[in-house]
Amino acid sequence: MSGGWIDTHCHLDAREFDTDRDAVVERASAAGLSMIVIPAVAAWNFDVVRELAHKHQLAYALGIHPLCTGDAQESDLDRLADALRQHREDPRLVAVGEIGLDHFVPGLDPVRQERFYTAQLKLARDAGLPVILHVRRSADGLLKGLRRIDVPGGIAHAFNASAVQANQFIERGFKLGFGGAMTFDRALQIRRLAADLPDSALVLETDSPDIPPHWLYRTAAQRAAGETSRNEPAELPRIAQTLVELRGWTIDQAAAITQANAMAALPRLAALAA
Ligand code: ZN
Repeated sequence: MSGGWIDTHCHLDAREFDTDRDAVVERASAAGLSMIVIPAVAAWNFDVVRELAHKHQLAYALGIHPLCTGDAQESDLDRLADALRQHREDPRLVAVGEIGLDHFVPGLDPVRQERFYTAQLKLARDAGLPVILHVRRSADGLLKGLRRIDVPGGIAHAFNASAVQANQFIERGFKLGFGGAMTFDRALQIRRLAADLPDSALVLETDSPDIPPHWLYRTAAQRAAGETSRNEPAELPRIAQTLVELRGWTIDQAAAITQANAMAALPRLAALAA
């Protein structure tokens, strides 16, 4: 891939892409993306994301997602430690992720989430890798872990917390991920952050197949009737148009600034996307 845009968060292994994954990657390339980061969500997809990254010359992260901690075994943390050790020289392994805390989805054991989060922060610190964080009503809990365990920064993805919390992540060397959510006029808090944060704090992501921008959004009734709101990496430049409007950037500035920020957050990307 060549060009400027970096999608810092795409679940390319998701089953929504099973029928046309190669075409999804081709469309991303044609749209000007130079790189896609594919985070793992559980031990069972560590090999899948790594193989996908190699097949398509992309990047990946290894970690256990907070929403997957209910089904995860304690031994999955050992599998993560083993995989990080085994692939530590792999230039396409750019982070530990997706890890974090989710205090929105009901039915998750917060103590168990916390244990997996803390253990994975330690693995990231020991591996010298940045982390990709899932933040959902959990910014303060995540920051508490970061104060105790010193990891080399990373990305707080799909960021939707307060300006005070945003600045606390930034002070710890993190970039904040913005995507389809900011394309909705009613997303006032996210749009305010996207407009006001320092240039150096912003990275772009699609989180595809999830978080569709407004032009792909379908209501529950439309989805029940068979319409899809699947998001994909090729939407990234159009999503970035929202940053252009909110910040008064040119589209070229949006590409250059967010690409540089992604490489600063995930330093191994610099060698891959050059
Ligand atoms: Zn994700």
